[in-house]
Amino acid sequence: TAAKKTHRITLIPGDGIGPEVSGAVVKILEAAGAATGVAFDWHPYDAGANAFEKTGEYIPKVLYDSIEKNRVALKGPVTTPIGGGFASINVTLRQKFELFANFRPVKSLPGLKTNYPNIDLVIVRENMEDLYAGLEHEVVPGVVQALKIITEKGSTRIAKFAFDYARKHGRKKIHAIHKANIMKLSDGLFLRCCRTVSEGFPEVAYHEHIVDNTCMQLVMNPYQYDILLTENLYGDILSDLCSAFVGGLGLVPGANLGTECAIFEAVHGSAPDIAGKDMANPTALLQSAVLMLHHIDEPATAERVQAALEQVYREGKTLTKDVGGTSGTKAFADAVMAAMEAPV
Ligand code: NAD
Repeated sequence: TAAKKTHRITLIPGDGIGPEVSGAVVKILEAAGAATGVAFDWHPYDAGANAFEKTGEYIPKVLYDSIEKNRVALKGPVTTPIGGGFASINVTLRQKFELFANFRPVKSLPGLKTNYPNIDLVIVRENMEDLYAGLEHEVVPGVVQALKIITEKGSTRIAKFAFDYARKHGRKKIHAIHKANIMKLSDGLFLRCCRTVSEGFPEVAYHEHIVDNTCMQLVMNPYQYDILLTENLYGDILSDLCSAFVGGLGLVPGANLGTECAIFEAVHGSAPDIAGKDMANPTALLQSAVLMLHHIDEPATAERVQAALEQVYREGKTLTKDVGGTSGTKAFADAVMAAMEAPV
């Protein structure tokens, strides 16, 4: 057999369902790599509460160094305490590595019955600004202020990312999502930047929709959309909404992209309600790993994984509970591995 190419990848299993779904994904990638002449050198690290217990840091320096060196990470979800505690690990990593674009393709899997067949949407979400800047303070007792930061630089580069993606992949339409009727300055600036960028891409139709109306429009007729271009918070909320079109949070992958590094992670969180029960659907993280394989220029391995995943959905015999099946995380992963080995 030909000499293998080895990719060094930082692995953050995360917590909650993180270790279960990332365990399944690593196993599947190892098998796909073995069949396509690609090897992975995984560099695993804790983050969040787990890391704090062991090292006294929520994001250990060795983890930062590893991502900086490897430039690619696969990440499971990390629990963020609500209304206090430490800052979100996810947001902190996105800031630290300037992962300004959050790319989330929402695409139906074959064979899976949903109320909305054949969905093929892309959400391009700004990943560093907006209310996620984490600038909150108490002005006087009983009054707090959170700063919504929108910049020309941040808005222009996310718009450029969305239009470049559309051009490269033959997408026809971009809707910038906003609330500029109320947030005239901040969302107004975002829209102005999107408009300016759109002028350089005459082949891509450009529209603007207000975010509340967008929620209604999506549920009535998601097929009218192609790419949703959003600020950070609207993108967060619309991602969960759109995941429901294709079967829920267990399915939708994501990529956090910058100019130097990239972190691939599912849209979903740590799902404490089903953690440790062999119930989580690893599809979302697996499809994030497929995005990663394309990113590191291993399309054959990516396609092998995606084809096996789609075969398991087409057969519909070994699915997890969230999508109407009765199988566990491990059995599902085994089915994907078996589909990969079966002659195509
Ligand atoms: P969640 O996404 O964890 O769960 C929402 C619902 O979807 C739950 O009912 C859960 O069981 C289900 N679900 C999610 N992923 C699933 C999967 N793979 N298979 C089957 N069902 C799945 O959202 P939440 O409960 O609001 O958040 C829990 C924690 O996760 C919070 O601490 C939050 O901050 C964190 N979070 C982390 C990330 C991240 O690491 N990037 C993203 C979102 C939320």
